[in-house]
Amino acid sequence: MKIGIDAGGTLIKIAIEEDGQLTFKKQPSAEIEEVAAWLTTLPEARVALTGGKATFLQSLIPHDAFQSIEFDATFRGIQSFLEQLNISLDHYVFANVGTGTSIHFADGDNQLRAGGTGAGGGMIQGLSYLLTELTDFNEVTERALSGDRDKIDLKVKHIYKGDKTPIPGDLTAANFGNVLHNMHDMTFTADDKLAAVMGIVGETVTTISIHAAREFKTEHVVYIGSSFLNNALLREVVMDYTVLRGFKPYFIENGEYSGAVGTMRLM
Ligand code: ATP
Ligand code: MG
Repeated sequence: MKIGIDAGGTLIKIAIEEDGQLTFKKQPSAEIEEVAAWLTTLPEARVALTGGKATFLQSLIPHDAFQSIEFDATFRGIQSFLEQLNISLDHYVFANVGTGTSIHFADGDNQLRAGGTGAGGGMIQGLSYLLTELTDFNEVTERALSGDRDKIDLKVKHIYKGDKTPIPGDLTAANFGNVLHNMHDMTFTADDKLAAVMGIVGETVTTISIHAAREFKTEHVVYIGSSFLNNALLREVVMDYTVLRGFKPYFIENGEYSGAVGTMRLM
């Protein structure tokens, strides 16, 4: 049995390979001791680790685990998912929207980090709590779907009232920029605020990713990370905005397990 583990800032992603079958599971990073206790019951397993908490997890388990650099593991995992899906890309950019967001150039052989942003899954959780006091991720993502961003975000066409716009009028001119215009005759519900949170995170991640894609002269942008889980609005914002800007977005099923699968493959 092989076990690949990506112990990240928020979630521990686990890939288990037994008799050629891959299965996945995840657990909050706050429960890392439980993951260590589970591994301790499997002394024969070959274990590969990656992620920011890999060294800490190693200190809690009896295995002499293989460790790889998170960026290389993630790249290796994405390559393996793309192969399985029969998607062949010579060049692409990938954005790993985890607690934070890390953006990379990738070709057939290597990845190179292109940059990142603090807008990501941690921002979704923190800002959602500050605005609505909600802490459950699935409640946040589901309620965001019923929200109305238009009351909160200012679009280019709102500024160019009736006039011809130099860029598409539906682009966001200012995230949260419509609030003071609407504060006297509209109420902002928790759902509206959550929708606007997905808007700012999705648009920031996309903007930085497509700048990297332009610099790298590729049109393909692969998005992974648990922030997209059960998060149809974030996916929609990222997908639509990537397409609007003339690039091709890809979302990989189980893509959040890229680091876990990749470190196992590198072992
Ligand atoms: P990093 O790579 O930055 O160290 P990570 O690997 O832990 O962090 P991911 O697991 O890719 O990051 O994504 C974490 C984000 O996923 C959270 O910030 C949150 O927005 C979202 N998320 C999805 N499902 C859950 C969940 N069940 N519990 C908590 N957060 C979740
Ligand atoms: Mg991660």
